[in-house]
Amino acid sequence: MPKNKPSSKFIILDRDGTIIEDRGYIHKIKDMKFLPGAVRGLKKLQNAGFRFIIITNQAGLARGIYNHAQFNIFNQELIKRLGTKNIKIEKTYYCPHHPEFTRSCRCRKPKKGMVLQAAKEFGFNISKCVYIGDKDSDMELGKNCKGITVLIENSQYPNRIQPDYKAKNLYHAFKVLAKTRVI
Ligand SMILES: [Mg+2]
Ligand SMILES: [Zn+2]
Repeated sequence: MPKNKPSSKFIILDRDGTIIEDRGYIHKIKDMKFLPGAVRGLKKLQNAGFRFIIITNQAGLARGIYNHAQFNIFNQELIKRLGTKNIKIEKTYYCPHHPEFTRSCRCRKPKKGMVLQAAKEFGFNISKCVYIGDKDSDMELGKNCKGITVLIENSQYPNRIQPDYKAKNLYHAFKVLAKTRVI
């Protein structure tokens, strides 16, 4: 059976600073905290027919701050916690590289590598996706893929790239998108 219906709409979601608090190289479960509006927003977006892919840069791996096993344990706990709230994440893709510490790569956002991989596996058109994140690299990724961009403004990072839409959190992002033809 195919993994998706052709009509499936996908959201490419950043993780840290978008779904959970970005405390910098976060990898300990005790530090995992949902951002305000994140769970409610994901539920609303899911009810509107969206499916979620997490695409995240994890330079903490390149820097040796944590390892792949620790990343996986942390991320699986996040997927489980979302699951208890009936929110399904289809898959998480992560880039473990950083040009200062490892080879350069094709996956580190804003490069399209991880989106292309997901598009191949799930059979969606990358230009039909909504890209939600809190950094310029997320917005650049969305623009590189010619999709719709929504910036979560959490004022942790300077933002120079103009997104299609801005929102305070994921619930606000749902409300913003609901006013458009995107939903
Ligand atoms: Mg982020
Ligand atoms: Zn990479």
